[in-house]
Amino acid sequence: MPLFRKSQPQDAPPAFVAPPPVLRGTLACSAPGCTNQDGVACAYVDRRGRACPTAWCPDHQIVAGGVVFCRRHARQHGAVPEGSFLADRGLPDLDNRAPSLVNWIGDALEPSFLALLSSMLRPGTSDEVGTEPVHHVRPPDGRTRWDRAWKIFDHTGILTKITVEVEESRDPEVDIRVGRKSIVTAIPPWIARRRRGERALEDAADEAERSAFYKDIYDAVVPAVMSEFNRAR
Ligand SMILES: [Zn+2]
Ligand SMILES: [Zn+2]
Repeated sequence: MPLFRKSQPQDAPPAFVAPPPVLRGTLACSAPGCTNQDGVACAYVDRRGRACPTAWCPDHQIVAGGVVFCRRHARQHGAVPEGSFLADRGLPDLDNRAPSLVNWIGDALEPSFLALLSSMLRPGTSDEVGTEPVHHVRPPDGRTRWDRAWKIFDHTGILTKITVEVEESRDPEVDIRVGRKSIVTAIPPWIARRRRGERALEDAADEAERSAFYKDIYDAVVPAVMSEFNRAR
């Protein structure tokens, strides 16, 4: 039995898992349309010793094992599940930041969401945890959006589902839903600050703010997921 479980009561939901800290450098970010100059080079080096030429700012990097990767090379290192990538190019459309934002928020919350859903599975049933990679949704009302989701399903269908979505017309506002219910709607604070023309926070304060933003989302999602799951079963 893992040590970290010992002090927790059996039925408590798993605590929020903080995403790895962002890393700051001095390179121009390679993300399409991003003007940030605090990128760090992708750590990938191929078998012939050639380094990946890309660099990524805190908004667009993936940190694994204490180093930065681009999305493509993070996938090769298994740092991010296969399903979370867009199409085959690994990068969103040049003129559309919405899928990138959904993936960014989704990557940060995924470890917590997966731990939560896994803790809720009923023993002796066909319950399973599943993920849905980011995809474009075009409803008849024209409010096109990008969704990425985590769910519990069994042979009867979906029992509960958490969705991170960005509607294209409201980008960079992020919606977090449980089932059809909207739980949180927010512009990530570091994006809001940039839009107001303010300078980025110092590293430690920025880190604390990001972590608080994700933890608030997680804490709001927990009771909603539990009550939806209890109603479905
Ligand atoms: Zn960037
Ligand atoms: Zn790379």
